[in-house]
Amino acid sequence: MSRSWPRRPRLCAGNWKMHRTAPEGAALARELVELLRARPGCEVAVCPPFTALESVAPALRGTGIWLGAQNVHWERQGPFTGEVSAPMLVSLGCRLVIVGHSEWRHGMNEDDATVARKLRAALGEGLTPIVCVGETLGEREAGRTAEVLVRQAQAAYSDLSQADSLATVVAYEPVWAIGTGKVASPEQAREAHALIRATLDRIVGAGTGERVTILYGGSVNPGNAAALFAEEEVDGALVGGASLEAASFWKIAVAASAPREQLRAGR
Ligand code: PEP
Repeated sequence: MSRSWPRRPRLCAGNWKMHRTAPEGAALARELVELLRARPGCEVAVCPPFTALESVAPALRGTGIWLGAQNVHWERQGPFTGEVSAPMLVSLGCRLVIVGHSEWRHGMNEDDATVARKLRAALGEGLTPIVCVGETLGEREAGRTAEVLVRQAQAAYSDLSQADSLATVVAYEPVWAIGTGKVASPEQAREAHALIRATLDRIVGAGTGERVTILYGGSVNPGNAAALFAEEEVDGALVGGASLEAASFWKIAVAASAPREQLRAGR
């Protein structure tokens, strides 16, 4: 397994969802590479649709920008029509893969056990899984946020070694904030991230939580990113809509690279 993922890096990952054809994706990647020529002080990744991975990969080669996918099947191969396996993603140059995105958990009824299988399949091929967790609005309003986050983290990480856990990234993505324009407050993000770190310490072992990169995701844009990144707990963002414009994604990556004192002073 690859262990090349740096220790708790700050990271901006763009989730393009079902946007951009293969040529459009390559063009967006080239624009981004141009803007990021002076590398920011954070890691940057883009997760195009499966159909654009092969066209985006050459544009990113040698730039330090990571290529990721949006989903993976847990088996390496077999009769799974429409699915894509971890070895297939690796063969296209992917280094990361999103698992447990709310559009799968809530849109396709993906359960915690399936997310855990996908996470292990990714690790098994040396991919860095971005493990999404997050509560719905109803769960938050019912005071169940902590219960949901702990349950999802527990299902994903139980029985995982510390080395494997440290090769993952967590994305706290409140479902009510994804694609809605409603962003979590920095305090809400801080609380959730601290809870996830404490849960990883309990499940995997002491000292795990503070070493895992935890991203915030949900309506991040260039106007609200700095306030979120000013929080010590927030190591970057998983960005949907705002990653489809190279300039706005670049601004978010620049904010994620700024020293926290500078971000706090700007609040
Ligand atoms: C996402 O899809 O992971 C996401 C955070 O989307 P958006 O930024 O558009 O809310």
